[in-house]
Amino acid sequence: AGTTELLLSRIRDVPDYPEPGVMFKDITPLLADPEAFAALTEALAGLAVRHGATKIVGLEARGFILGAPVALRAGLGFIPVRKAGKLPGATLSQSYDLEYGSAEIEVHAEDLAADDRVMVIDDVLATGGTAEASLRLIRRAGAQVAGVAVLMELGFLGGRAKLETALEGAPLAAL
Ligand code: IMP
Repeated sequence: AGTTELLLSRIRDVPDYPEPGVMFKDITPLLADPEAFAALTEALAGLAVRHGATKIVGLEARGFILGAPVALRAGLGFIPVRKAGKLPGATLSQSYDLEYGSAEIEVHAEDLAADDRVMVIDDVLATGGTAEASLRLIRRAGAQVAGVAVLMELGFLGGRAKLETALEGAPLAAL
């Protein structure tokens, strides 16, 4: 309970960002507070270990900020899932629908192996489109999904339901 209160107190609501009518959850105050950042890292690393993860995938860009210390804390390797065109090696790519248009994410194919169990880390689960695409990438690479762990789930956007099929029973944990 103490940790939840601490984390919540360090998330800033920014109205009308990035467009009118959207309430943006800004985690920069949390990142700037070493006690809160450490508590978040500890909680996410605990989830990764409990669910038997062997690799951490972080989703660009805030999933990199959170995923890297989580990977170190859990003693696991870190793998970036990036927006298309940023990774230099041979990639697998996955496109997904946005409200207007589409987006594409990629991972280095050689970073995921059949015996890997991957925990996906991000700050916010909104519609679930990004996380779902990352699960497809992991499955297409032949690896297993240990779960998805985020700081916040915006429940009213229905991301949990969108992820259900791709999770195949693996947990979605929101702190
Ligand atoms: P989704 O694909 O709609 O679930 O959007 C999730 C992606 O957008 C994540 O990578 C988040 O970092 C980002 N995102 C969406 N809404 C917010 C927010 O309110 N605060 C911070 N990031 C957000």
